[in-house]
Amino acid sequence: MSKKFKCILCGHLGGNITSHKPRDRKELSIVDCPECGHRQLFPLLSAEELIEEYNEDRTVRSTTVQIAPGSDFESMRKKFAEWTQIHADMYWDKLQKCKNVLNLGSGYGFLEEEFNNRSGKKFNIEGDDIGQFRIEHFVGGICHNINFMTDNIPDEMLGKYDLVMALHLLEHINSPVEYLRRLKPLLTENGSILIEVPNLEAFLCEISPEYKEFFYLYEHVSYFTSKTLAKVLEKAGYNIKKIYTKELYSIENHINWVRTGRPFIQYNQMFLPDGRLEFINEEYKKTIGEMGKGYALIAEAVI
Ligand SMILES: [Zn+2]
Repeated sequence: MSKKFKCILCGHLGGNITSHKPRDRKELSIVDCPECGHRQLFPLLSAEELIEEYNEDRTVRSTTVQIAPGSDFESMRKKFAEWTQIHADMYWDKLQKCKNVLNLGSGYGFLEEEFNNRSGKKFNIEGDDIGQFRIEHFVGGICHNINFMTDNIPDEMLGKYDLVMALHLLEHINSPVEYLRRLKPLLTENGSILIEVPNLEAFLCEISPEYKEFFYLYEHVSYFTSKTLAKVLEKAGYNIKKIYTKELYSIENHINWVRTGRPFIQYNQMFLPDGRLEFINEEYKKTIGEMGKGYALIAEAVI
C-alpha cells in the first residue's frame, strides 16, 4: 500500500501495487484502487514531463523507424494508414449524420484528412493538438490548440458540436473526470461524446503474457475496463448510450505475439496481406469484439 496514492476516479487514498511496470519507466508502478477497481499509473507525471514527452512524440516513434520529431509526415502517414482506415470505417456512418465534429488529440490530423476526402467536406471536422500545422496546411481544416483542463472554451465553440471524439486520449489524462466535465459545454443539446481507449480486458492480454506486460506504458495514466470507463463518464455527469469493444489488430498480430512474445514492427498487422484472406480476420476480430475483449474499448454518451 502506498500512503500517498489517491485514485484519480474515486479519490480513495491508498492502493494495491500490482506486479506490472510501465515498459518504458520501470521505476513507476501500476496500482489498483481497492475501492472502485480503477487501475492507474503511480506516481503521476508532472505537466512539464508530459509536455516534454508529447513534444518529442517518443512512444509512437519508438515503434517506427527513427525519424526526427516533427518531420517526415509521409512516413507517419504510411505508419498510420491502416489505423486511419479502420477508424474512418468504424465511425463513418456516425459522422455523416453530424454537422460539426471536434476530434480531440488529433495528432497528425490523418483521420480528419480521411473524413474530408470521403465526405467532400460535407461536415466540418475540427481538431486540436500537435497536428495543428498539418491540419491547417495540408488537410485545410480548423485546428485548435486548447488545453481544456486549463483554458476557457472560446465562445464560438460553445454548444457547437454534435459529436466530440476523444480517441486514445482519456488514458493519458491525469484528471479524467474533470476533463470530461469540462468538455460538456462544447456539445449541442443532443450532441454526444465518443471515447475510445485501450481495453485492459483485451483478449491479447489473456493469450500472451508478454503482451500483457507490453500493454503498460508510462504515457498511459489509466487502464480502463468497461466498468471503470462507465464510472468516469457517470461521475462527469454523462448518460451512457453504449459501451462496446472492437478488435483493431489482425489474427496475424495475435499469433505473432503468442509465437514470439515480441511486437512486430516491420509493418502494421491490422489487415492480412491478401484481401482473399480477410474473411478469416474479419470473423476473428468480430468474435473478439463481441466478447467484450477487443483492443478498442468504446463508449458513447450524451449529456
Ligand atoms: Zn478508486
